[in-house]
Amino acid sequence: MIKVIIQPSMLPRSTYGSSLRTVIDPDGWQRLRRAAGRTTGGACAWCGEVNLASGWRTWETHEVWIFDLATKRQRLAAVVPLCRTCHLTQHLGYARREGLEADVVARIMLLNRWSHIETAHAIAAAEHLASLRGRTAWDLDLTRWSAHIVLPDWPALFIPADARRAAVVRTITGTP
Ligand SMILES: [Zn+2]
Repeated sequence: MIKVIIQPSMLPRSTYGSSLRTVIDPDGWQRLRRAAGRTTGGACAWCGEVNLASGWRTWETHEVWIFDLATKRQRLAAVVPLCRTCHLTQHLGYARREGLEADVVARIMLLNRWSHIETAHAIAAAEHLASLRGRTAWDLDLTRWSAHIVLPDWPALFIPADARRAAVVRTITGTP
């Protein structure tokens, strides 16, 4: 059996604008980023690509979320270092808006050894799931990350859905 390396994904619309990077301070984000990088020595966890910036390894930090519909909680399960293209497979809507969907499709086909049709089906399934999840307002649960994240206004690292907008401390650019 061939292992599926990339499961394409996209975030539900109801989480837009209050992602992890917008509610934690830059230092906290850097701690998470470094924690992700340590898991692979800075290489992309999925394709192995190493990117250099001024001679140093650099990567994008992907947040792996578990969406639990029963509790309406969005829980941070892991942070993973990825190259830009692998990261875009987790933000299909963003990739499409940036005109990069072909790159995403090619990457998924290559790493998973999927056909174009298999890839299209997986992307359609990811969109459907995100659409369903978009109907729910999610509490943001970072409770397992106290070694990395400090939220002065939310010391328990739990932000109720109706407070997420108010919890945003900064805007971000680039891949969500
Ligand atoms: Zn990669």
